Amino acid sequence: MNIHEYQGKEILRSYGVAVPNGKVAFSVDEAVEAAKSLGTEVNVVKAQIHAGGRGKAGGVKVAKSLDEVRTYADEILGKTLVTHQTGPEGKEVKRLLIEEGCDIKSEYYVGLVVDRATDRIVMMASEEGGTEIEEVAEETPEKIFKEVIDPVVGLMPYQARRLAFNINIPKDLVREAVKFMLGLYQVFADKDCSIAEINPLVTTGDGKVMALDAKLNFDSNALYRQKAILEYRDLDEEDPKEIEASKYDLSYISLDGNIGCMVNGAGLAMATMDIIKHYNGDPANFLDVGGGATKEKVTEAFKIILSDENVKGIYVNIFGGIMKCDVIAEGVVAATKEVGLEIPLVVRLEGTNVDLGKKILEESGLDITAADSMADGAEKIVSLVKG
Ligand code: ADP
Ligand code: MG
Repeated sequence: MNIHEYQGKEILRSYGVAVPNGKVAFSVDEAVEAAKSLGTEVNVVKAQIHAGGRGKAGGVKVAKSLDEVRTYADEILGKTLVTHQTGPEGKEVKRLLIEEGCDIKSEYYVGLVVDRATDRIVMMASEEGGTEIEEVAEETPEKIFKEVIDPVVGLMPYQARRLAFNINIPKDLVREAVKFMLGLYQVFADKDCSIAEINPLVTTGDGKVMALDAKLNFDSNALYRQKAILEYRDLDEEDPKEIEASKYDLSYISLDGNIGCMVNGAGLAMATMDIIKHYNGDPANFLDVGGGATKEKVTEAFKIILSDENVKGIYVNIFGGIMKCDVIAEGVVAATKEVGLEIPLVVRLEGTNVDLGKKILEESGLDITAADSMADGAEKIVSLVKG
């Protein structure tokens, strides 16, 4: 789960990690009020969306007066920001962070991730802050330093010091930087983060080390024990289809393509997307209906796929093991009865109760293209969609 920058900064602040003073605003008037109450000369008006790259897209503006705060707030609120992380459709700005302007000396990068190779949390840091870290990793990987963290003892002060020296934090600010890093690690570990990215971390004219940006992502599997974090959820930022799917406990992820996929098992779902790609098609979603899905669940899943305007065809690829083919067939029939089906549907069924499943589909009178194998089905749906 993703949260907004201002929420991330709230959490950091509560751990003693330095961030500029700031306030969230939902309207232009609130933005001006926020700037007034901050009482600083220069304020920064920042679009709050669940995506980075706002600066380049015009979503971060420095205001030198209250009038400018009003002008920029008016300009950014309600605007659809298109950044390299939003996709071409962009994201509408509904909240702003009004933050005190910071006298930046240098910009750095600090991030934490869970590293699958070492099974540990890794802290990364670089003196190439402000820019995209992916570019730094590509062009000058030697400028990214890493510390692998032992979960028993946590991030050790010597590791933080080593990072601070490696990225050339001025000597007199190393203590501050170490404190920052230790606090950031504690947030990551306590709150079950999956990513924490501070880009930029800055040193300031008055000798501070602080987070100017904060991107925190949380492991959804741990949210049951992170009730406070769950409060930060902003459904406006999430795909309505994914929200709907989560109500039914379906593993659904919306993608950019036009072939809807209904599959059981995450592995088979991945393989199905691969094979569609192999035949030059583009999957519209990842969907694993799970092993114990009921007819109702399958019906909802199928309806969610159909509600996606980009979907021009559907590929149902089921290997019935625990899942029974007749349950899938009943769900498909029930959903199409409710919402209709005007696009091609290719079905490949195999496994438990396959004959019964096929019979239900045949007797439904639906226009279904049957497939003999997974590859055959993928080839068929791709050519039907290209029509
Ligand atoms: P994004 O990564 O989405 O572009 P950032 O929060 O990193 O957004 O802001 C982009 C840039 O704007 C930063 O690299 C920094 O130079 C500047 N900036 C952001 N917040 C402030 C602030 N409070 N004071 C001064 N400059 C800021
Ligand atoms: Mg940033």
